[in-house]
Amino acid sequence: MDRQLDLDQELTSRAVDLGAQAPKKLAEIGIGTYRELLSHFPRRYEDRRALPSYGALVDGQTATITGQVMSRVGNRSRRGMHVMRAGLRGAGGERVTAVWFNQPWLEKQVYPGLNLVLTGKVKRQGRTVELMVQGFEVDDDSESLSFNRIVGIYPTTQGLSQAYLRRAVKRLLDALGPLPDHLQRSLLERYELVSLDRAVRQAHFPDSEEELQAARRRLKFDDFLFFELAVLRSRDPNRLGRTFHVREADLEAFAASLPFTLTEGQQRALNEILTDMQAPKQMARLLQGDVGSGKTAVAAAAVYVAVKNGAQAALMAPTEILARQHFLNLQRYLFPLGVRSELLIGSMSAGERRAARARLASGEADLAVGTHALIQEGVEFHDLGLAVIDEEHRFGVEQRRGLLKSTPDVLVMSATPIPRSLALTTYGDLELTVIDGLPPGRQPVKTMLVTASKRRDVYRFAWQQIKEGRQVYVVTPLIEESEALDEVLAATRLADDLRQIMPEAARIGMLHGRLSSDEKDEVMAAFRRHDLDLLVSTTVIEVGVDVPNATVMVIENAERFGLAQLHQLRGRVGRGSHESHCVLVAGDASRKTRERLGIVVKHADGFTIAEMDLRLRGPGDLHGTRQSGLPELSIGDVVDDVEIIEQARDLALKMLDADPELEAAWAERLRAELRRRSRAVMVREVI
Ligand code: ADP
Ligand code: MG
Repeated sequence: MDRQLDLDQELTSRAVDLGAQAPKKLAEIGIGTYRELLSHFPRRYEDRRALPSYGALVDGQTATITGQVMSRVGNRSRRGMHVMRAGLRGAGGERVTAVWFNQPWLEKQVYPGLNLVLTGKVKRQGRTVELMVQGFEVDDDSESLSFNRIVGIYPTTQGLSQAYLRRAVKRLLDALGPLPDHLQRSLLERYELVSLDRAVRQAHFPDSEEELQAARRRLKFDDFLFFELAVLRSRDPNRLGRTFHVREADLEAFAASLPFTLTEGQQRALNEILTDMQAPKQMARLLQGDVGSGKTAVAAAAVYVAVKNGAQAALMAPTEILARQHFLNLQRYLFPLGVRSELLIGSMSAGERRAARARLASGEADLAVGTHALIQEGVEFHDLGLAVIDEEHRFGVEQRRGLLKSTPDVLVMSATPIPRSLALTTYGDLELTVIDGLPPGRQPVKTMLVTASKRRDVYRFAWQQIKEGRQVYVVTPLIEESEALDEVLAATRLADDLRQIMPEAARIGMLHGRLSSDEKDEVMAAFRRHDLDLLVSTTVIEVGVDVPNATVMVIENAERFGLAQLHQLRGRVGRGSHESHCVLVAGDASRKTRERLGIVVKHADGFTIAEMDLRLRGPGDLHGTRQSGLPELSIGDVVDDVEIIEQARDLALKMLDADPELEAAWAERLRAELRRRSRAVMVREVI
């Protein structure tokens, strides 16, 4: 058909007939052009090749079935619950009842004669079989795109059905000739990639799992290839930063004022940083080290060097609690050396902030520690020479850019263990320094996994520790992440519960994200002063808190946390000279939970835990395909895609090496695609 169709024209041009309502309907999910429709890929896939017959449905199983609606009744129970039941007939004439709860509006949408594809939990009692519906689609689709195959589930919105989207994409694909490829055949062969045309078609309508995998691989490869090309082309390896002078006497003064000696690992990391700082090139370094490895002290040394060179430094942390803690630590290390620090966080009064800003602008203050408040409200530095960013993945590109516009040297700190090749990609083009090992005297945290039935024993043990003068953290996950109120509820309930379980003498405090910043600080300060024995908190408080006297970390409903997060939480204890314990309380006793949490019990090293977690999760069989455009690099994705990323980076480097401006004739399509994607998403730019 039309080989020349311009994919970038608006759907309103009606160059391809997708139905009269298409432009309006598709606009609801942000699709305005044919290209956008083509790259609206399924979020996930369902294998509907062999749907079970009703007779094969097993009680308790989650299943997908098809059926025709024969009857439908809606009722309200005495307790006000709405229940709708529909009698379904399967292809062989057998019967099942589908049940919906509390969706009275469905009475209008589900009626006799409709063909449905339904997914839900099977309830079988004797010969009656019911399906508790979790999701369903109306199969009004004569092309049978919705079952007897692997079916893509698209991101969509209420009122825009899956079947409709599938049909629209199908019509477009049918109207298009083969999609031209921006990679040459020889490259496809070398990197074992399928053609773009096959990848796009198979990503929408996979013929088999193998085809789907191959399609996903090609699309991801492109995502990362264009990302790498954009990053590599935008970097300026010779960008100038500060040239600092490192004087031996300053380092000695710093070491002397430090309450401990830097470990070998810390010293090595510091040396790499100082080498960068002495070079005229702008430093862009990622300092990675496990929780508790002592990154802050290393950063403090760098700050001191910057200040001794007459420059200012800034440290940006992701939360107010962390900012305050960094502030306290840095003051402890640096105040005796004459460094004047300012704290800048959103919860300070306007007057306080104004005063702090003025001292930074005049150069009266040497160091600013804060949250993103640092870069909002137009904080001006007299002469910012070094920016330290803690756990940077929590900051948006714009936020970072604000702080870095004067091209200071940049040090990013992260406790997230990711392999070197991935760090290169996720962080754009940062160079990597890893702190090996932990400070001496750190005792490994004894980790235990128990089921909820053992909770009382756990808290009896916690009380023992409290009687010995130690302190205890108890962490609970949020029940519902989006609901701020639930967070309060989760923490309050747990605190009340512990007041029942523990002896009255236990002084119990509570911390959650809904407290004002002052309230949080008060609670934290009380815990630090040991006016509290036990601190209940939600995960908002997970990172960075440092109270050496706390020796027990109890994590309730541990199965709800990611393993890396559990490892981070565990890192809150074992910071003093006393033996420390971490108790994972599992809310369910399944083998899967035991296996997963067992990894944290057995391993002490964050890197290993991350890798085991990955292996356990497996590559996943039927994953979703990422939306096209430059990838948003969340770490989870990146870890899954190591191999593809490395290859894409390899190709990008080779391409630019041979042809820095991508001017060759063969690269024309590649260039066009790169331009398109760069426009769609801002390149993640660290510096
Ligand atoms: P990170 O930020 O890497 O998780 P911190 O910088 O917060 O770790 O350090 C964790 C704890 O270890 C702090 O209490 C700090 O004072 C202490 N610490 C850091 N370096 C050393 C060291 N070389 N020797 C002893 N204690 C150290
Ligand atoms: Mg830290």
